[in-house]
Amino acid sequence: VRVDAPEAESFQTGLRDALTRHRPESLVMVEAGEYGVQKTIEQTCDDLGVPVETRPDRHFLCSHPEFAEWRAGRRVLVMEHFYRHMRQRLDLLMDNGQPAGGRWNFDQENRRAFGRNGPGLVAPPKRFDPDAATRRALADVATQFPDNPGSLDRFFWPVTREQALTLLDDFVGQRLAAFGAFQDAMWCGEPFLFHSALSSALNLKLLAPREVVDRAIAAYHDGAAPLPSVEGFVRQILGWREYVRGVYWSEMPDYLEQNALDANRPLPSFYWTGETEMACLRAVITQTLETGYAHHIQRLMVTGLFALLLGVRPREVHEWYLAMYLDAVEWVEAPNTLGMSQYADGGLLGSKPYAASGRYIQRMSNYCRHCRYTPDEATGEAACPFTTLYWDFMLRHERRFAHHPRAGLQWRNLARLDRGRRAEIRRQAAALVGSLA
Ligand SMILES: Cc1cc2nc3c(=O)[nH]c(=O)nc-3n(C[C@H](O)[C@H](O)[C@H](O)COP(=O)(O)OP(=O)(O)OC[C@H]3O[C@@H](n4cnc5c(N)ncnc54)[C@H](O)[C@@H]3O)c2cc1C
Ligand code: SF4
Repeated sequence: VRVDAPEAESFQTGLRDALTRHRPESLVMVEAGEYGVQKTIEQTCDDLGVPVETRPDRHFLCSHPEFAEWRAGRRVLVMEHFYRHMRQRLDLLMDNGQPAGGRWNFDQENRRAFGRNGPGLVAPPKRFDPDAATRRALADVATQFPDNPGSLDRFFWPVTREQALTLLDDFVGQRLAAFGAFQDAMWCGEPFLFHSALSSALNLKLLAPREVVDRAIAAYHDGAAPLPSVEGFVRQILGWREYVRGVYWSEMPDYLEQNALDANRPLPSFYWTGETEMACLRAVITQTLETGYAHHIQRLMVTGLFALLLGVRPREVHEWYLAMYLDAVEWVEAPNTLGMSQYADGGLLGSKPYAASGRYIQRMSNYCRHCRYTPDEATGEAACPFTTLYWDFMLRHERRFAHHPRAGLQWRNLARLDRGRRAEIRRQAAALVGSLA
């Protein structure tokens, strides 16, 4: 169904039309990626008396029943436990029942920042010229959605299986070895650094997660990449990707409605344009508008962090992430945004809010060197908005988190602030919030 055809008015009308035209005995489908799509199909078929048979999606490494079995009886969900379960069950990166290298986790070696001179020369991901079908699709988007944010000028993503395999080769050969060490680092003008840029190819099922993981592990066995990098990469796909899918399907449909921190402010309009004096947000949003991509820490600790500290309505943040990213699809986006980034699920996905001040961004990037604000300052002319809002966030949620078993330590720092200082921070935050409206 072409996007400009009358029956393309909505997915439901297109489906209803097709079912009425073809009058099938039954509809056999692979389970949908999104809850809403699954329900729409079931409802439409039900209305027309067409039975539906849903088959498991073999693209994923953990089925819904397996996730439900793993989850049963657990009061607290911890991704690390799920990840170890998956490593053991699939016998991946295991030596005689023990984790390869004797450890499950190489965080000590990983998650470094670059020195003053930055990452040096990094080979960017391979780019692909749009083929005829892609050019047609780009033209359709330009005519049907002229006012949507973002640019179509530099579309270079893989759209075929061959291109996706080429991008996988390119990542394993060029960037995997340094992936672990610098997976949390950010640098001006370097959107991809050592990341794979494979999420859209994975989500579109041009690549299977198992083959991606197997390629990375083979690089470790061949001596092409060190274990900390390979383990860090495997963890993202075998751990996080499968885990958030399991959480999504077991929590929907209520998951989208949660707002544990009662966040009710609107999303600042600069999220749609990148026009802000905050250098970190400007860089990440502009890059996203140009490429449809930002890496995990840019999403979590720049755009996500600012919305969390400001107290933006989680549903609006969710809609922004769904609209802006090339790899966006609800089963993976919603738990990352509403759970990990905004704490809207009250700690189901991450045990405490990912709250940090501008100092975190200063440590992990060079954005602050290009900014008119100062990350150490919470009040005054040069105060970094992240730092102001960080302390304001801590004050707003003091009662909730001061005695929290995992977050309490961070909140206890508030004891350093006397009443005068607290009032000063609150005033600065209120003025900042007013200026963003
Ligand atoms: C607020 C927020 C929203 C997000 N929205 C999406 C989304 O809509 N679609 C999406 O695919 N990912 C999403 N992520 C997860 C992650 O940021 C992206 O998968 C990653 O940045 C894609 O870049 P990459 O392929 O270079 O990843 P790499 O860093 O190279 O990681 C390798 C692969 O691991 C998987 N992966 C890594 N981190 C995660 C994670 N936290 N959850 C699930 N899978 C992960 C991805 O498939 C990725 O391609 C989101 C994260 C946050 C914090
Ligand atoms: S000073 Fe603050 S606003 Fe500016 S780049 Fe650093 S963290 Fe971002």
